[in-house]
Amino acid sequence: MPPTYGMYEVSASINNVENKKIPLTEDFQIDVPAVMAQITPATKMIFVCSPNNPTGNLLNKKDVEEILASFRGIVVIDEAYIDFSSEASWSTELSKYRNLVVLQTLSKAWGMAGIRVGSAMADPYIISMLEKIKPPYNLSLPNQQLAFEAMGNVNQKEEEVKLILAERERVKTKLQDFPQVKKIFPSDANFLLVRFEESKPIFDYLIREQVIVRDRSSQINCSNCLRITIGTKEENDQLLKLIRDFYQA
Ligand SMILES: *Cc1c(COP(=O)(O)O)cnc(C)c1O
Repeated sequence: MPPTYGMYEVSASINNVENKKIPLTEDFQIDVPAVMAQITPATKMIFVCSPNNPTGNLLNKKDVEEILASFRGIVVIDEAYIDFSSEASWSTELSKYRNLVVLQTLSKAWGMAGIRVGSAMADPYIISMLEKIKPPYNLSLPNQQLAFEAMGNVNQKEEEVKLILAERERVKTKLQDFPQVKKIFPSDANFLLVRFEESKPIFDYLIREQVIVRDRSSQINCSNCLRITIGTKEENDQLLKLIRDFYQA
């Protein structure tokens, strides 16, 4: 449901699986009637990303529930950014919905993208099917050990999340002061989707100054939008200073 994470489409295409796109509404929520209208007996999975990337918002619980309850196939909820969110994980609903698969990852809040470890949580029946089709090669032992080590330190992750959330609100407040910033979308993630009057000049300038943000302006309903990941306080200060310099020049 675009604008969203691009890998669902890439993975479907690599596997020669037809992929239907039903855009989110203008406020980046699920267009439930449009989704329902596209379901056929051949529809196997619906991908839901919440909090969504690149928009940052949570998808409305009742919309997701409606799809879970009425669709006979698998509903995959991608929770890559759940650690930054104010709402509980859908994993708490696994006993209620046998067609629910919840994906999480150590790549974001846990800061362990390099070890390539994530998880899928689902009904034992779905997991047993995944066991049948997955490649026989398991996670390497060093990666498993690093994952356990990271997960053994929940407090550190939570401290870092707290800092990022405080910085997200600070950056948001500062960005609102620029008249060239037209809209900052609500975020439950570690980034902000920001609509500029004109995104290209500021994006190019930031690149020249070696600050990388994501240009999402070509995605549906994201014209002139950049996705800005919240960094350390120093990195955020540097970003804000560059934006100030650019608009004052
Ligand atoms: C980063 C990300 C992932 C997964 O990343 P991995 O490093 O492959 O675990 C999944 N979904 C979304 C929406 C992401 O942003």
